[in-house]
Amino acid sequence: MELRPGESLARATTLRIGGPAELLVEASSERAVERVVAAAARDAVPLFALGLGSNLLVPDEGVHGVVLRLVGGLRRVRIRGRRVSAGAGAPLAQVARKAAKAGLAGLEALSGFPSTVGGGVYMNAGAYGTEIKDVLVSARVVERDGRRRRLTTAQLEPAYRRTNLRESGAVVVRALFELAPGDPKALLARIDELNAKRWQALPSGVANAGSIFKNPPGDYAGRLIEACGLKGKEHGGAAISERHANVIVNRGGARAADVVALMREARDAVAERFGIVLEPEVVLLGALREEWNRRAGR
Ligand SMILES: Cc1cc2nc3c(=O)[nH]c(=O)nc-3n(C[C@H](O)[C@H](O)[C@H](O)COP(=O)(O)OP(=O)(O)OC[C@H]3O[C@@H](n4cnc5c(N)ncnc54)[C@H](O)[C@@H]3O)c2cc1C
Repeated sequence: MELRPGESLARATTLRIGGPAELLVEASSERAVERVVAAAARDAVPLFALGLGSNLLVPDEGVHGVVLRLVGGLRRVRIRGRRVSAGAGAPLAQVARKAAKAGLAGLEALSGFPSTVGGGVYMNAGAYGTEIKDVLVSARVVERDGRRRRLTTAQLEPAYRRTNLRESGAVVVRALFELAPGDPKALLARIDELNAKRWQALPSGVANAGSIFKNPPGDYAGRLIEACGLKGKEHGGAAISERHANVIVNRGGARAADVVALMREARDAVAERFGIVLEPEVVLLGALREEWNRRAGR
């Protein structure tokens, strides 16, 4: 276990925004995670699991409490027959490639965006018609009381970009996938093809967190925001991407408050014009979430 007080979270997120973690802990075993989670519960300190930081907006003031990152043994991947057991700290893209090379199909569509296995399970991440729940058998988690438990996919109550891990606060330490047989060459080619398609649609070479809002039923947040004329709209160092209106980019020196200001503007414009209230897909941490919920009247 490694402890790093005051570690910058801007460097740990794809938006490159955010102040320091009061304490960043790197844990390399399930036992270490149990100890950290139990200690945080005992001392009533908030604890938050960090993946690749690709769906996070961190306050500029930083995060109070413990930020937990999974490393070492919690990034290991094992394949047995059609089953893939992956440590929650492993990048999903690596797991997908490893499975494809072993002739196992099902994770290709989930390989084109930055995500750990744990972050992907928490978000029920998805792309091109596949969601992680479609191939997930179960997840091993450490509950907030420090106890380890195996949860089936149904027990996680997966829905569009969410699971009940948001409420339970349990930390995923390992995930078990069941995949289908496939031709390794064809699967690797499919991964490359889907990734190329994705990079055509998204801004490249500029910090962002993918989709900022969830798509409302039967429509696209990007289409609605674009229709309100907000593409390219700037606030401080942040801007609504010219390439995709549901993506906010950090053009350099953006603060969390800049991103939130653009999110509010987009949400209000879409609500006024279309009567649709957009819900954030990006995870707002700490005071940012409280402030957003308060203004949204929740
Ligand atoms: C360019 C780009 C493209 C994207 N495209 C897509 C896409 O097509 N589809 C899609 O679904 N998403 C997409 N995203 C969003 C993001 O990649 C996913 O939400 C991803 O699954 C987040 O994983 P992460 O490991 O980075 O989690 P983080 O961003 O670090 O964390 C997200 C949430 O997961 C929780 N979490 C992380 N690890 C654990 C764990 N071990 N146990 C419990 N909770 C945990 C965190 O506490 C946090 O609440 C995109 C992002 C970018 C930057």
